[in-house]
Amino acid sequence: MIDFKPYLLKIEHEIQSFHAQNKKIFATTSCQTNSVVLLHLISKFAPKTPVYLLNTGFLFPQTLSFRSDLERLLNIEIHLLRGQLSLNQQKNASGRFLFTSDPDFCCHINKVAPLEPILQNFDLWINGVRAAQSSTRAQMGRTQKIQNGVVRYHPLLDWDARMVHYYIEENNLPRHPLDNDGYKSIGCRPCTRKWIDDLDNRGGRWQGLNKTECGLHTTLGGKA
Ligand code: SF4
Repeated sequence: MIDFKPYLLKIEHEIQSFHAQNKKIFATTSCQTNSVVLLHLISKFAPKTPVYLLNTGFLFPQTLSFRSDLERLLNIEIHLLRGQLSLNQQKNASGRFLFTSDPDFCCHINKVAPLEPILQNFDLWINGVRAAQSSTRAQMGRTQKIQNGVVRYHPLLDWDARMVHYYIEENNLPRHPLDNDGYKSIGCRPCTRKWIDDLDNRGGRWQGLNKTECGLHTTLGGKA
């Protein structure tokens, strides 16, 4: 049994404090099971917050349907953000998609670049990174400054996978439709594999590549 009350009070207090400072706030989500806790907290403590999902064009259809389910259930709006290049423009000279030939560039044009204009319009970016997810995320602070003075805010930084699991159970929240099929971390179809190691639940992403992040939390990571 986990007592979530102190965690929730802290997050509620922090969000109230940002609102009292008139911060313009937005949030991002990847609409997977791990995202449900953050979206539920936003629906409780800051329901008017604009939430964005980077729709790379390569998402699982189940992710897009889960987004619609979450919008209805939590009474929030999750806006789709899309990059400038069509899928056909994302091939190299040999006709191979960039996700095979240059995945870092593919992530840049489909995830990092579409978010940059959004950062111009806000002061505070809420996202659901957790320190336990990777060594990169373990270095992050609860808040940290990035470009143009925007502050990233990570309310779930100190939550582990067990807490996420029990919070979802206790609040009777849904899981991504592919969760039961063994997809513990879900991004784009070409770069996501089934993976059931609970201690390393991002191991199914970019398998076989020396890559663990898309850039949203590194290129746009800032300093703790
Ligand atoms: S996760 Fe894969 S398909 Fe998606 S933007 Fe990155 S490289 Fe491209």
